[in-house]
Amino acid sequence: MPSNLIELDSLEFLVIVDNEVDPISKYPNPAVEAYGNLADIAAASRIRPSDRPEGGDTRVLSMEDICCGAHGLSIMVTGVKDGKRRTVLFDTGPDEAVWQSNVKRLGAKVGDVEVIVLSHWHRDHSGGMLKAIPIINAAKEKDAPKVIADLHPNRPDFRGVTLPSFQLSLEADPTFEEISTAGGVVAKNADTHTLADDFFLVSGEISRVTGYEKGIRRGARFAKEKGAWEMDELILDERFLMCKLKDRGIVMFTGCSHAGVVNASRHAITLGEGAALHAVVGGYHLADSETAHIDETVADLEKLNPKLFFPGHCTGSRAKCALERSMPGRVNQSTVGTRFTL
Ligand SMILES: [Zn+2]
Ligand SMILES: [Zn+2]
Repeated sequence: MPSNLIELDSLEFLVIVDNEVDPISKYPNPAVEAYGNLADIAAASRIRPSDRPEGGDTRVLSMEDICCGAHGLSIMVTGVKDGKRRTVLFDTGPDEAVWQSNVKRLGAKVGDVEVIVLSHWHRDHSGGMLKAIPIINAAKEKDAPKVIADLHPNRPDFRGVTLPSFQLSLEADPTFEEISTAGGVVAKNADTHTLADDFFLVSGEISRVTGYEKGIRRGARFAKEKGAWEMDELILDERFLMCKLKDRGIVMFTGCSHAGVVNASRHAITLGEGAALHAVVGGYHLADSETAHIDETVADLEKLNPKLFFPGHCTGSRAKCALERSMPGRVNQSTVGTRFTL
């Protein structure tokens, strides 16, 4: 049990890729400070002389400076302790071009990223990695260590879903060799461990305790050495990232919650050794769930009583609405381009 996870003074996170774009929403919860992408663009006042209308301090809001959404997740997370800042990247989204262009649009200081934590082997989380690694390394000071890629060792050659009439396969995740060739320092970790001087913790395998969180129905993996698809509904390589905030508690970042967002939340509380669950950020994977499953999830989350939700990616609008109905004011949408401070 890693008891060395330190308590952070504050936490910042920037959503680089998520399914939804919403640069103008307000976040009224006083425990959350949030800036959308539009605020960044206005602050940067990128004025193209040729476009510049006449008169006064006119700034041109260029539509191409607004981020794009994509089905996947990538969040840059910075912990602050005694003035010291440490940054990791949680997942890299589905696509190299989206990750690269959103980072540019956001002016994200990706050279600060010390470790890329991949939540699990699914292309919508790993697809941007081979571009993210060289961009992060190029943004670093000359003698700074290269970015580490923290990965689960059990990488399937392909992942997909076995449908009644055909086998659906995702594109392959990057291989360990490709990640290393791209300039990432491959660190294979199946177990619970801390990162960046104990600012953050990666969960290792998530305990499955609820009766209704059963993974991906008909999920499958392909292993080249076996030459066949086999059932893989549980996605046991999935991990979450967490940290502890002083006087508030645990903030958990979950990629897809194939283990179940309640199972992940309970596991985070166990790893947090008595700390309360403060916030749950990321994909809750309820978009395609039955209504009864969503209701059970919301009821169990209410018992765990986190103060803030940042549902994104595969959460789905029905689950977000159900959370807001049952715990009004706690839901903050985790949309692309938003910078949050807790
Ligand atoms: Zn997934
Ligand atoms: Zn996903």
